[in-house]
Amino acid sequence: MRTPQEAIADILAHIEPLTDTERVPLAEARGRVLARAVTSDVDLPPFEKAMMDGIALRAEDAAEGPWDLELVGESRAGVAFDGQLGPGQVIRIYTGAELCAGADAVEMVEKVREEDGRVHGSGAIAAGQHVSHRAEILEVGRTVLSAGRRVDAVDLTLLAAVGADPVEVVRRPRITVLTTGDELVPPSAKPGPAQIREGNTIFLSAAAAADSPGALLLEVGIVPDDPAELEARFARALDEGDVLVTTGGVSMGKYDLVGDCLEKVGVEPILHKVAIKPGKPIWFGKRGDKPVFGLPGNPSAVLVCYLMLVLPALRRCCGAENVLPEPFRLPADFSVKKAGKRQEYLRVRCVPKNGNLVLEKHPNQSSGMLSSAVWADGLAVVPVNEAVFPGDVLDYFSFADLL
Ligand code: AMP
Ligand code: MG
Repeated sequence: MRTPQEAIADILAHIEPLTDTERVPLAEARGRVLARAVTSDVDLPPFEKAMMDGIALRAEDAAEGPWDLELVGESRAGVAFDGQLGPGQVIRIYTGAELCAGADAVEMVEKVREEDGRVHGSGAIAAGQHVSHRAEILEVGRTVLSAGRRVDAVDLTLLAAVGADPVEVVRRPRITVLTTGDELVPPSAKPGPAQIREGNTIFLSAAAAADSPGALLLEVGIVPDDPAELEARFARALDEGDVLVTTGGVSMGKYDLVGDCLEKVGVEPILHKVAIKPGKPIWFGKRGDKPVFGLPGNPSAVLVCYLMLVLPALRRCCGAENVLPEPFRLPADFSVKKAGKRQEYLRVRCVPKNGNLVLEKHPNQSSGMLSSAVWADGLAVVPVNEAVFPGDVLDYFSFADLL
């Protein structure tokens, strides 16, 4: 049985990133993956730029104070002074405005006094003070973001500055999310005897659509534990979509039909079972380039398998770099006695204690326990065959970053 680390490496190695791209308006590009590197078509700043309101002058005219210089004009943001400063001359200038020819420094308005067309100051002025130099931030042709970048809101500012509108991104993956089980009814239905409402597809489709780059949901639904029906739905999902995710039916029971039915419709099995808790029975395969995840039915297993295995794969499908969730390292404020053969993902909360953050564990970690996942704000990892003592530092994956 593979460790979770081996499983994710194996899965990622089997994912072929989508090659189709599309041009989207920059205002809609948040969360999308850049299809190619973006370079700047301008220098930034485009000119010698004032960083303060005040005056622009020749530093050599005011190398030592006091000084008294002639005011000859004004440069404001968007409207430059188009003359040249001669010896002893200054212009009024405002933040963001272009320095005129001859000027090489700015003095703040608070430090000068203007009277009868003259400007008086006492401080020694150094060349370059309060000036942002042309191309200091960016020069024409420089790569500002590389292909594979998942664009966040801050990136949009930079992309806007270099004129990347519209911007070329990888298309979103189209995914089908199915859950299997004769006991399942949709959340809107009243369960009959022996039935339960299903929530896995609701969780998975919301999480996958909201993550960057955001999957497009092709079909979401419940399939009974019936081989003909399972095969038909799986085949359709693989004909029409890029990725199939199922839940339930991957254990060893007589009605756990998912693996067999996937193979019947041409999905090549790549892994079955990972040393992860919860989530051990997870199944992964491919038909052509199309990845298929068979997750167990338990909602906590779905949560763990989605975050640790499916989400990185969906990101990789879109050519994204940095697909793996990044853990924080935080001390446990609990102990776990039983060392296991599987890497365990505990539902925990990150809470302040004596001025530091520590991890608190939900007392009930049973895999069907929905309320513990709702209580938790993340997952803490207990390494294989290790007990945890208070103060031990664990990997902690925050839901806030991932869901
Ligand atoms: P299975 O993996 O099919 O054996 O299911 C394991 C457990 O998860 C069973 O108790 C199922 O009833 C439950 N389960 C399966 N699918 C779902 C679902 N979509 N939503 C909520 N619970 C489910
Ligand atoms: Mg089942």
